[in-house]
Amino acid sequence: MKKIKFEDLELIPSILKALKEENYKEPTAIQAEAIPLILDKKDVLGSAQTGTGKTAAFAIPIIQHLTKENISHKKKILALIVTPTRELAIQIGESFSTYGKYTEVKNTVIFGGVPQKSQTTALKHGVDVLIATPGRLLDLINQRYISLKDVKYFVLDEADRMLDMGFIHDIKKIITKLPKERQSLFFSATIPKNILSLAHKILNNPQKVSVDPVSSTAETIKQFLYKTNKSNKIELLLHILTNNEIKQVLLFSKTKYGADKIVRKLKKEKIKCAAIHGNKSQNQRQKALKAFKDGEIRVLVATDIAARGIDIDKLRYVINYDIPNESETYVHRIGRCGRAGDEGISISICEPEENKFIKDIEKLINQKIQVVNDNPFPQTDKPMNAKEKKEFEKQKQQRKQEFFANRNKKKVEVGVRRTKRKLS
Ligand code: AMP
Repeated sequence: MKKIKFEDLELIPSILKALKEENYKEPTAIQAEAIPLILDKKDVLGSAQTGTGKTAAFAIPIIQHLTKENISHKKKILALIVTPTRELAIQIGESFSTYGKYTEVKNTVIFGGVPQKSQTTALKHGVDVLIATPGRLLDLINQRYISLKDVKYFVLDEADRMLDMGFIHDIKKIITKLPKERQSLFFSATIPKNILSLAHKILNNPQKVSVDPVSSTAETIKQFLYKTNKSNKIELLLHILTNNEIKQVLLFSKTKYGADKIVRKLKKEKIKCAAIHGNKSQNQRQKALKAFKDGEIRVLVATDIAARGIDIDKLRYVINYDIPNESETYVHRIGRCGRAGDEGISISICEPEENKFIKDIEKLINQKIQVVNDNPFPQTDKPMNAKEKKEFEKQKQQRKQEFFANRNKKKVEVGVRRTKRKLS
């Protein structure tokens, strides 16, 4: 079959020039399918995860529409992209700027967790494309900084993650504020029933475009598995990192607390690293991401939500420090490496209690993950039986209660000391 080129997609010269500068040789599958439909003003229901090139699949035709219609500089928001996380929003904004570099199309990005002043200033100057996370968008609509009445192009990005993060009511509210006459594009990595019903509320006679379903992990990713005991995980991680070929790695931790703990341990071993998760400020997160992209740190430790959609060019390694109980999360995680055709390597570290999750994952991806036998910390413990699990949970609960009781006691002691000092 003849390979499709960007030139075949009837793109305007200014966009082709930008793509050439980016060194994009040919459209990815989702781009080849979706761009002609979107240029043809069809609504699109796209099933594609990050890493497939889906941002360009919607950004390029929107920039082309806006340029052809010659409607920039009217200080009206003509295209709205709603996406779940700030990191994604920033990346989408960067994509619009890159592909629209030689056009007049202006974009701005708004998200929560930072003061709104610079965002409202940018809005006042006028933008054509607004990229937003749901909460801040509604907030600024309520404060009358934003009106959606002129939106002609609407994109709902990462819809499944949006629902996972509890944004369904926000999304429904946003939809009520959009004009009925519009072109809508809806992207989701997975399309279960609840997503489909949301899609039907938004789209009008949509064309379906599907690439890389979530169960088929990118063929270019080599997957390895180390089985170990819970108590040996950090030692095993340090052993894995003695491999100098791992120049940079994105490491996933299930919890924020766990992520911080890993960072502390790695720093002790003089391994340059940083964590990004929901408890870090926007500034800290962006700083860490930049340091990682600039090659200043070797290990970026992230929780699933913080890492969602993070786009790091040429990332080769992903480590799963724990095994997610949702198999689809595993597929999302390892999809961070080996993007757009590059080779990627994923390494998973599995403790006995996680053995069952590996089985679920292997069922979903329909392949066995290769176990590494050259492992100085092999798994010798067995998963707990029901009785042991109950006892473990009981002890965990007790430890938690003791921790909080001690903390409260300390607070009271400090309070008493302060009062005494004041009185003396
Ligand atoms: P996305 O799925 O939108 O997160 O994009 C994943 C990565 O693929 C980004 O780093 C893009 O810059 C890159 N990319 C998108 N389209 C192409 C293309 N046609 N050729 C090469 N790289 C691309």
